[in-house]
Amino acid sequence: MNKIRNYINGELVSPLSKKYMDNINPTTGKVYALIPDSDASDIDLATQSAIQAKKEWGNSSIEYRFKILMKIADLIERDIETLALAESIDNGKPLTLARNIDIPRAVSNFQFFATAIKHFASNAHELTGEAINYTLKKPIGVVACISPWNLPLYSFTWKIAPALAAGNCVIAKPSEITPMTAYLLSKICMEAGLPKGVLNIVHGLGSKVGNAISEHIDIKAISFTGGTETGRQIAKTAAPMFKKLSLELGGKNPNIIFADCNYEAMLKTTLKSSFANQGQICLCGSRIFIERTLYKKFKTDFVEKTKALIVGDPLMEQTDIGAIVSKQHQDKIMSYIELAKKEGGRILCGGEKVKLDGDNAEGFFISPTIIEGLSASCRTNQEEIFGPVVTIMPFDTEEEVLNYANSTVYGLSATLWTDSNARINRFTNTLEAGIIWVNSWLLRDLRTPFGGVKDSGIGREGGFHALEFFTETKNICIKYE
Ligand code: NAD
Repeated sequence: MNKIRNYINGELVSPLSKKYMDNINPTTGKVYALIPDSDASDIDLATQSAIQAKKEWGNSSIEYRFKILMKIADLIERDIETLALAESIDNGKPLTLARNIDIPRAVSNFQFFATAIKHFASNAHELTGEAINYTLKKPIGVVACISPWNLPLYSFTWKIAPALAAGNCVIAKPSEITPMTAYLLSKICMEAGLPKGVLNIVHGLGSKVGNAISEHIDIKAISFTGGTETGRQIAKTAAPMFKKLSLELGGKNPNIIFADCNYEAMLKTTLKSSFANQGQICLCGSRIFIERTLYKKFKTDFVEKTKALIVGDPLMEQTDIGAIVSKQHQDKIMSYIELAKKEGGRILCGGEKVKLDGDNAEGFFISPTIIEGLSASCRTNQEEIFGPVVTIMPFDTEEEVLNYANSTVYGLSATLWTDSNARINRFTNTLEAGIIWVNSWLLRDLRTPFGGVKDSGIGREGGFHALEFFTETKNICIKYE
């Protein structure tokens, strides 16, 4: 059985407790690897090694860091097939998605921040005739990156790359549900010649390893992506210690469709924004509001296209919808489908577990589900489900749909489909979301600020925002003679 190991002080090591947990392939329901059940002692070991490494790495030249990060990017690119297969097996996502989106994005993350640090400038302010101020952006020291299971290597590297580029030493914790590509990344970092202790990857449960990170006095900043409740717990522990926090949390994103939109483009994209990665993307639009004049046509076409999606073995080329990441998550999604029925929802398609044949007979599959007949305020429309489940609702006026859209505690992203510039202006000004896509979805430019408002988090990732987060600003004022 493949035994995943921690990456501490430049070496692959067992957890100090020697305890391991099962890693389950969601497509087969069977254990296929073992994950270190690490605890606070492993986090302390990793932190001590990061402390040892931080002076040299923090003072290293930008050119040196650039070269190492670019080397890591090259090696991820070289191993794209191996990593995509590992990601698909670990997470249940279609192999085509891992090959075309997840792993190439991990390459881009390293390339982007390797080069971004070269352009990360600071300011000077002159008090005319009196003094000059200049501002330094110094690495924080030892920082932590905690990531979720939905886009495993993609979101893991989205945090690690800027942290390293800015000159920090990192304690990184991937999700215990999808640890495999983070483990493969440790081997790549060793091959790339990343100095020991600069990146430490510690596997294990959030309640042990994650908590130990929040509590550790020498970890000065935490960049976290995951659920809102977990973010709240981290903040509870870390905020009184004055740790810097970047929290990318849950969402319940509205997809607002007006009758004047480009219908074909909208329909094609809405299928993706509803069900890509089994609906397990924080940016998926799970509440779809359609102008009443278009509602009937949209409903017919959307249901037809959704029914044609192939739920199947993620390794097969033709599969659109792979496995749900875990049994526990499958149960959670099914419980929300039951709740929707109780709340008066009508299941237009899906709504069931899918039983496949052969090796996949025990896998965790759910057919893509569309529900109508619910109010915007019911629990199904207020709580994050994070699966292949969307609701559709008609609306009559702009004011009405804006109220619906802004009615949840979340504010991560929103999607708007319309041909009217005036309407685009009105909505983009008033929608409560950190990211708004107009006539598109998930078009990403890595330079743009990424993050949510309200209970979807605090702080922004992306571009120089990430480099700002991973540095401390120091102002120096020199009086002229
Ligand atoms: P989660 O909060 O359960 O876990 C995320 C990570 O936090 C994991 O590595 C986990 O082990 C760790 N963790 C758990 N408890 C912890 C604790 N007490 N202290 C420190 N770390 C702890 O989330 P998940 O189920 O892995 O991911 C799904 C959630 O992530 C959804 O809510 C989704 O919306 C959100 N998400 C948000 C974004 C975004 O950019 N805003 C992106 C992807 C996913």
